[in-house]
Amino acid sequence: MTNLDLLAIASEFGNPIYVYDSAKIASQYQKLTSAFSSIRNLRINYATKALSNVSILKLMRQLGSGLDTVSIQEVKLGLAAGFEPYAIIYTPNGVSLNEIEEVAKMGVQINIDNLSLLEQFGAKHSKIPVCIRINPHVMAGGNNNISVGHIDSKFGISIHQIPHLLRIVENTAMKINGIHMHTGSDILDIDVFLHAAEILFDTAKHFKNLEFIDFGSGFKVPYQQNDIETNLEELGEKLSKRFVNFCKEYGHDLQLIFEPGKFLVSQAGHFVTQVNVVKQTTSTVFAQVDSGFNHLIRPMLYGSYHHIENLSNPNGKQRFYSVVGYICETDTFGSNRKIAEITEGDLLVFRNCGAYCFSMASNYNSRYRPAEVLWHDGKSHLIRKKETFEDILHNQVEIVFSKESVEQKA
Ligand SMILES: *Cc1c(COP(=O)(O)O)cnc(C)c1O
Repeated sequence: MTNLDLLAIASEFGNPIYVYDSAKIASQYQKLTSAFSSIRNLRINYATKALSNVSILKLMRQLGSGLDTVSIQEVKLGLAAGFEPYAIIYTPNGVSLNEIEEVAKMGVQINIDNLSLLEQFGAKHSKIPVCIRINPHVMAGGNNNISVGHIDSKFGISIHQIPHLLRIVENTAMKINGIHMHTGSDILDIDVFLHAAEILFDTAKHFKNLEFIDFGSGFKVPYQQNDIETNLEELGEKLSKRFVNFCKEYGHDLQLIFEPGKFLVSQAGHFVTQVNVVKQTTSTVFAQVDSGFNHLIRPMLYGSYHHIENLSNPNGKQRFYSVVGYICETDTFGSNRKIAEITEGDLLVFRNCGAYCFSMASNYNSRYRPAEVLWHDGKSHLIRKKETFEDILHNQVEIVFSKESVEQKA
C-alpha cells in the first residue's frame, strides 16, 4: 500500500480515516510464527482490544490465529467473527463472577487472575478447566504506565501467593489446564523475559494436567527511526529451546501461546487527517487537523510518538510544526516535528495507528468516530462507516421540562 493509495482512499471515503494494510498484518503474523517454528504446538492468540473490528478478527482467523479477549463483549465479537469458543481465551481483570460464568458457559477458555474469584469459581464449577494468570513481579521495559508485572500491579496472582493458590485448587478439586503471564512491559531485554519464563515453569510444575503455557505479549515494534524492537530471532531461539526442555522435564508436550496485539496490527495502521488551519504564533507554527484525542489518544495518554508525514506535498521544503487537533482541550499529536511544508487543506498521515488507536476513540466534543478501511488484495474495503448524527443521539433519552419545574422556588 502506497501513499497514493492512502490519498485515493481519503478522496473516496472522506477524512479523517483509519486505513489498515492486511499484507502487513499477515507478514507480522508470519514473522512471529517463523521465529518459533521449532515449537510443535504453537498458538498465537491475537489481543482483540488492540483493534477489534470484526473484519480484522476475521482476517486473524484466516491467518490461523486464536483470540485473547478481556471482556464478554470481545468474546461475543470473536464468536461473531466465526471463532470457535475453544480458540478464544478470556483474560479479564476485576470483572464479576457472573460475567466469568457466562463466558465459561459459551465454552471459552477462562483465565482467572485473583484468588477470590478462583475460589468462588472452583467451588461452583470444579469440572470446568481454568487457566491462572501469575504475576511474576519481573520489571522489564521502562514505562510504568504500561507495565503490569511489577509488585504494585493490579494484574495477576502474585507468585508469593502460590501456597494459598494450591490450597484453593486442592480444596475445590478444580482443574488447572494453563499457566499465564502478561507483564505488559516491552520485551527489550530477552534475559529478563527468560527470567520471568523460569518463574512460570516453576509454577507449572505444581500442576499435573496442564495443556498450555501462555507467555502473554510485550513484543515491541519501532514507532520512530532507531527505536529498539524485540529481537524475535533471539527470543525465538532461546525460549523455544528452553520450552522444549521444560516439556521433557514436565513429562508431556505443552502448547506454547503468545497473545500479541500491538505487534500484529500497529504498523499496519495509517490515520489520515486534513489540515484545517495553519496558525503562526510568536513561537510556533501549528498545523490543526480535523481530529483530536477523540480519535487518537495515545500521544496525550502515554506520550506516544506517531510519525507524521504530509501526503499532499511529500517533496516540499522541510519545516517545523506542532501538529494539534480541533478539540477544545490541549491535544498535541506532535511538537516541533519536521514535516514537508504544509498548506491548509493538505492531508497528513499518522503512522503506527493500528493498535490502541481506533479502539480507544470516543465521541468527545460530540464528534463522529471515523470510518475504517482495510486495504486487501490491492483494493480498499470499507470495514466501518463513519458515524452520523443519529449515532450521537441514539441512546440519549430526552426529557420534556415544563417551565415551572425548572424555575427556582422562592
Ligand atoms: C493487552 C493485552 C495483550 C496485548 O498486549 P500488546 O502490548 O498489544 O501486545 C495481551 N494479553 C493481555 C492479557 C492483554 O491484556
